[in-house]
Amino acid sequence: MDCIFCKIINGEIPSSFVYEDENVVAFEDLNPMAPEHILVIPKKHYASLNDIPEDEMGIISDIHKAIQNIAKQRGFDKAGYRVVNNCGSDGGQEVFHIHFHVLAGKTLGPIC
Ligand code: AMP
Ligand code: ZN
Repeated sequence: MDCIFCKIINGEIPSSFVYEDENVVAFEDLNPMAPEHILVIPKKHYASLNDIPEDEMGIISDIHKAIQNIAKQRGFDKAGYRVVNNCGSDGGQEVFHIHFHVLAGKTLGPIC
């Protein structure tokens, strides 16, 4: 499948993971919008939030557990952070492998 994030997961595109578990990986965004800008993605390909079957929604919990761990590991859990999922064209989604942006390291401005 011609998916840039699947290629990152399978090593075709070199990247260094800041976090990995059985179902989830995380890496730094290429164009950071904050001092900390990490993308958290499932290893399994789902194009967007719309494409996760009801009986596989546990992956959303796995992703949020990963985010909790990443925030603690990187030390921004106490100061706070923002989690963003862009879904579809009005949502501004550009990469169609579901991903959650984790933004931290400064006081963030309004959402939009
Ligand atoms: P979205 O607009 O929510 O689909 O966000 C896609 C994000 O993926 C953008 O913030 C890009 O900077 C980021 N991105 C695209 N290609 C790469 C890559 N090869 N490595 C890391 N981040 C990437
Ligand atoms: Zn993919």
